[in-house]
Amino acid sequence: NNRESVNFIQKIINEDNIKGTYDSRICTRFPPEPNGYLHVGHAKSICLNYNIAKKNNGTFNLRFDDTNPSKEDDSFVESIIKDVKWLCPEWEGKILYASNYFDKMYQYAIELIKKGLAFVDDLSADEIREYRGTLTEPGKESPHRNRTVEENLDLFDKMKTGLYKNGEKVLRAKIDMSSPNINMRDPVIYRILKESHHNTGDKWCIYPMYDFAHPIEDAIEGITHSICTLEFEDHRPFYDWILSNLDDFKKAPTKQIEFAKLYLTKTMMGKRYLKRMVEEGYVDGWDDPRMPTVTALRRRGYTPEAINNFCEAIGVSKAQSVVDIGMLEHAIRDDLSFKVPRTMAVLDPIKVVITNYPDDKVEYVEAENNADNPEMGTRMIPFSKEVYIEREDFMENPPKKYYRLFPGNEVRLRNAYFVKCEDFVKDENGNVLEIHCTYDPETKSGTGFKGRKVKGTLHWVSAKHSIDAEVRLYDYMMNDEDYDKSNFLEKLNPNSKVVLKNCKVEPTMADKNVGDRFQFMRHGYFIIDKDSTKDNIVFNRIVSLKSSYK
Ligand code: ATP
Ligand code: MG
Ligand code: MG
Repeated sequence: NNRESVNFIQKIINEDNIKGTYDSRICTRFPPEPNGYLHVGHAKSICLNYNIAKKNNGTFNLRFDDTNPSKEDDSFVESIIKDVKWLCPEWEGKILYASNYFDKMYQYAIELIKKGLAFVDDLSADEIREYRGTLTEPGKESPHRNRTVEENLDLFDKMKTGLYKNGEKVLRAKIDMSSPNINMRDPVIYRILKESHHNTGDKWCIYPMYDFAHPIEDAIEGITHSICTLEFEDHRPFYDWILSNLDDFKKAPTKQIEFAKLYLTKTMMGKRYLKRMVEEGYVDGWDDPRMPTVTALRRRGYTPEAINNFCEAIGVSKAQSVVDIGMLEHAIRDDLSFKVPRTMAVLDPIKVVITNYPDDKVEYVEAENNADNPEMGTRMIPFSKEVYIEREDFMENPPKKYYRLFPGNEVRLRNAYFVKCEDFVKDENGNVLEIHCTYDPETKSGTGFKGRKVKGTLHWVSAKHSIDAEVRLYDYMMNDEDYDKSNFLEKLNPNSKVVLKNCKVEPTMADKNVGDRFQFMRHGYFIIDKDSTKDNIVFNRIVSLKSSYK
């Protein structure tokens, strides 16, 4: 139940408000690591945090969790900022960097050492793992655990000065090696990493671990609700331990709340899987419209409103589930249906010659831009002796209940006239080359002709006025519902992208721009892609018209 699940975080906030837990405003954050492009799962976290702040008259920050220099890059910082601004157009919060707190974090580590709550360890990473124990077995204390405060301060200073190699020493919290929670068994809080950082350059050769840094970042910024995904539930005791043992933060209102990650059917989520698809050439880059990245959704033609509405509709909960991708598609159809103009486009053209129409005559017929939204007005489109219709809209030998064009049958050309199929021409291989029709001038749309009725209405474009276009149709990357992540590359849908090169669109498309969206009648919603050139206009199908989700 969506309404209920929306309430689970809001309920906590309401209770806190009654108790007066916070003397300041509510503050949330989105804390990405700048090590890749955001995907729709991240979008959910952004919308969630942003909307909670907005609804409660609070603030929402973007904070880069850039404490690990090895995978981070400035180009990701830029793309993440762009995505967050796109998803939250009215956002006015701050853009912050965890790396700007490195000095403070270092001081807090010293505070823990001085309190006898942290020690420098010489065990290797493998030994630490071995000593840590298992769920059923308690861990073993490090032989270096009882170094004096003075010795620890001295060694930690030498770590910072660069006296040791990567991995030679670490700083660990001193908590409880027999804790049932493995995260509390003397977790590492600082390690040596002789690498340049995208923000601090070569100033540091020791870097704080995520679990140590994160509560400090939240507390420094006055985050009241630190919302994260379920895998951090076990880390919460350490989060609280850090805050309760640092004098500055004993009274910090910061509270960690976990929710279930978003997964979508027919969709691979997760940076490293998406990275493989890009690096191994299964897609044409991070913004390939088949990808679930925010940059790809934007290129595909999704709107921030649709993504926000989708996130609101699916709600937030603690129970792990997989959302039907049909819900995301429903959200974009819903958002576009009133907003975007409708137009006729023929994706697989076949020519119709109207034999009794004057050779050089051109007349302009009026067409509504959006039948469901009359405010969008009308446009005039040219009609002439030769038009294109969809190849599938003609059959030589139609089955029962086929109401489109076939020999002897009459249909309406939308916004124009009734035409009747009199004949057709085939090539030597039996392919239909062209259809010959006659039209009835009495039947012009808008004249109120009631003489007789037809069952089929076809979309069309005037042959000599039409513009050639390339249309890209997309299908899901994954066919399989219960895909196995280990071999997902073998399970990718080989037909997820179909490129149609010979499509015909209305001349009204000539002055449109990259990013403009349309409904192509009967085919779905489309957007003009950035690959368009002066001579080759390229459309992406955003989504088809029919919904499989109700
Ligand atoms: P991934 O590996 O899937 O790219 P991540 O967790 O490594 O994700 P981060 O940059 O560390 O990416 O995450 C930033 C925020 O986005 C975190 O708070 C994280 O919990 C949240 N997040 C990541 N994936 C999802 C998801 N599928 N649904 C909801 N929130 C998510
Ligand atoms: Mg991560
Ligand atoms: Mg991850």
